[in-house]
Amino acid sequence: MIFFTTIHHLDKWHYLNSKNIRKYLSAYPYLQNGNYYAVCFYCHNPIRLVGRLNAKTNEVSYYGVHSKKLIPGFSVFDKAKLSHCLYKNNPSTFVLDPLKQKSLNVNQVNIDSLRKDLTYYTGFYFSKKLTYSFLLRNQKAFEYRDVDQYNFPFVLLLVAKSVSLNYRKVANPRLKYAIDNNADYFQVSSSGQMVPLDEKANLIMSFEEQELAKNQLPLLHVRIYEILDGTKNLICESHIFAKMFNNLIDEERTEI
Ligand SMILES: [Zn+2]
Repeated sequence: MIFFTTIHHLDKWHYLNSKNIRKYLSAYPYLQNGNYYAVCFYCHNPIRLVGRLNAKTNEVSYYGVHSKKLIPGFSVFDKAKLSHCLYKNNPSTFVLDPLKQKSLNVNQVNIDSLRKDLTYYTGFYFSKKLTYSFLLRNQKAFEYRDVDQYNFPFVLLLVAKSVSLNYRKVANPRLKYAIDNNADYFQVSSSGQMVPLDEKANLIMSFEEQELAKNQLPLLHVRIYEILDGTKNLICESHIFAKMFNNLIDEERTEI
């Protein structure tokens, strides 16, 4: 683990080095009895930092080890999430595993939570209807290795490969900015809809190469293209990381 995060700023990641440890972790609850603690930036459980002295350079390098119990001053210790942390084993990208025993199925999925998470990932509003059909179309995601109840929105996008944005509503202002500035055949209407200026034009969000990022999390490259009569313009590109989401599984329905 080469990054850590802190209790109240979970979305801010810091390199695990002496400078950042001094800057962010020099007081309770991060410093206790001579041990440094921080938060795992994937599962948000506490980690203990272990230093290793390099005899040649005389410099200390650090790595993080998940704590097996709640550390005083840390509010979260989620055993289920800890067992699903992608750092527990050797992290790898998501791959199809035809022999996998499926632990999830479409009927267990909480569509409202999934809708919010796909909206967060893509920057446009997933309607309830689109979310359900997207899930049905891409249920091969549940045959992927390491897919679980926290990370499957990422794998759904990986499996989907692309989604059409025509007449969908923008949720992230950066998407609106990209279309306003870079698109020739689309505009964002006053109600936020991505509207084609030519009925034959298509706006496609494409989920392309997957790789293991520097932080050891699977990462997916996302590109948006407008396509008309054989011309294809790149509107913008970004990437998304595998992330732990909550409440994706409807507990009551799993008991049926
Ligand atoms: Zn973790």
